Amino acid sequence: MKLTNFIKDIGYAENTAQIRRKVLIEQMHQKISKQQDCFNCKGHCCTYSYNSMRVTPLEALDVYFYLLNNNLINQSLVEKLKKNIKDFRLDREVYISGDKELRRYYTCPFYKNGVKGCGIGLGHKPYGCIAFMPYETNVSIAGKCSTNTQVLIEREILNPEDDLINQNIRNYFGLYWTKKDLPSALMHFVRTFNKNLNFNI
Ligand code: SF4
Ligand code: SF4
Repeated sequence: MKLTNFIKDIGYAENTAQIRRKVLIEQMHQKISKQQDCFNCKGHCCTYSYNSMRVTPLEALDVYFYLLNNNLINQSLVEKLKKNIKDFRLDREVYISGDKELRRYYTCPFYKNGVKGCGIGLGHKPYGCIAFMPYETNVSIAGKCSTNTQVLIEREILNPEDDLINQNIRNYFGLYWTKKDLPSALMHFVRTFNKNLNFNI
């Protein structure tokens, strides 16, 4: 399957990634201007202790393009994703109350273990990552941050085309999920469009 045909068929334009995050990035800068920033924190929210973040197919595709544009789709990425999925048992799906999947906690494979420790650019990282910010100044410990749900809702209202693209991706691949942990969702695209890499070793 060719990536160019796929993105045309589903109506995806990679240059909209930053636009779709505009209000999230603005609220982040507002927080930073009030010193409610992450500059003194090593990123607790990206680790197994606190992170159970799940992404839509579209958000995973944005991350895929960030990696592609930065020449980061390679065997080492495959190994990292595979290890991450295995270590945190992300391939063991457990359903609670019908079709509701149990959220798994995991350390994000793009976490660099330190201040400014995210390996994905701001214009492409998952929406929830940008909306999660401190509510106090000079935060360095966990428990002082929260998700700005209001700005996530505002973003959804401003970007109604997300739903259609997500539906198109699901239809295209016959995906049963609407949200998934980032490593598994991303692995789907890497497996599909990077057949030159070895997924078995
Ligand atoms: S959102 Fe909170 S826990 Fe996450 S990096 Fe920023 S200050 Fe640290
Ligand atoms: S994408 Fe970046 S900000 Fe989001 S969980 Fe992973 S390392 Fe943290």
